Amino acid sequence: MEFRDLKAQYLNNRTAIDNAIQSVLLESRFIGGEPVRQLEEKLAEYVGVRHCITCANGTDALQLALMAWGIGENDAVFVPDFTFFSTAEVVPWVRAVPVFVDVDADTFNMSAKSLEEAILAVTDEGRLVPKAVIAVDLFGQPADFPAIRAITQKYDMLLLEDGAQGFGGKIGDKMACSFGDISTTSFFPAKPLGCYGDGGAVFTNNDEWAELIESYKVHGKGDNKYDNVRIGLNSRLDTIQAAILLAKFGVFVNEEIDAVNETACLYSKYLSEVIDIPAVKQNFVSSWAQYTIKMPGVRDRLKDILAQNDIPSMVYYPKPLHEQKVLMTNNKMYTDLNTASMLSQTVLSLPMHPYMSADEIDKVAQTILKVKK
Ligand SMILES: *Cc1c(COP(=O)(O)O)cnc(C)c1O
Repeated sequence: MEFRDLKAQYLNNRTAIDNAIQSVLLESRFIGGEPVRQLEEKLAEYVGVRHCITCANGTDALQLALMAWGIGENDAVFVPDFTFFSTAEVVPWVRAVPVFVDVDADTFNMSAKSLEEAILAVTDEGRLVPKAVIAVDLFGQPADFPAIRAITQKYDMLLLEDGAQGFGGKIGDKMACSFGDISTTSFFPAKPLGCYGDGGAVFTNNDEWAELIESYKVHGKGDNKYDNVRIGLNSRLDTIQAAILLAKFGVFVNEEIDAVNETACLYSKYLSEVIDIPAVKQNFVSSWAQYTIKMPGVRDRLKDILAQNDIPSMVYYPKPLHEQKVLMTNNKMYTDLNTASMLSQTVLSLPMHPYMSADEIDKVAQTILKVKK
């Protein structure tokens, strides 16, 4: 069994993907060009924002946002303690300080209550200026943006949505990657919408930030790429990846989001009586980057038993960020981070992708139920 079956996905859409790659080879324009432009237009329309700017990966996308905002020394950027390293890594990269915020045990996403506590603690201390919040759509479910937006407004802070795992999710009619002042995503192969290498994108309605990010991602270009007016990066999405994403996009929107939601529904039907299953908030739609259960006390044993039955599973994430020593240099904890610590000891992510068969879902569920009984 595959944890995320990228080969099944390719075979399901093989002709379109082969043709897309072939047409870029025949055109022999490998950077920029029509596929990149078309993709940006399509994604901006789908998400419902004015600008989509593609870039080299989801980490650069976050960094480009912080650069456009001029975040730097003595600025505090609030991040959930339970997420992939990238979310926090970009903060010291621009010389600001990541402040860790605890998460909600049911949704795994940033706790609005803990966020406000952390902002007040930083303000009290008086060393750093609370500038921005990075809220993550962890495992596919949008963060609690209604509550988090209320807080960033109250304290006059910027909101960055890290939608690397959330692309395709929604709150009501509003799509993931439209909730931040700037939002970002990743096209890493195993993300909800993946390419065949690295890729990422930035979304915003703000014309000025969009223009800055267009410049920063190509060596701080001015009027052209040999007129360099600021220190930037080389962070373009290449043409083959854009063509692959265009070829996969229709299936993603029309089939795959429904398919992963059906898989999640089946898992939950089998497991909900006995196991702590992932909760999706009312009116929220997840893109199910992961289906993550909590197995206090038996997580590692269950992982072994699943492996013996040819069922792959993953621990996302084995360490909360505040236990990553490199992030704690010149840094400290401003609030309790107990839920994040607890989750790192108990979570287990199960095989989840749009091409799982009912038999496979059944086999995973029955194996788990046997361990629990
Ligand atoms: C994958 C991921 C990123 C980084 O994306 P890359 O394309 O791998 O750089 C950032 N944040 C989260 C939450 C992620 O899962």
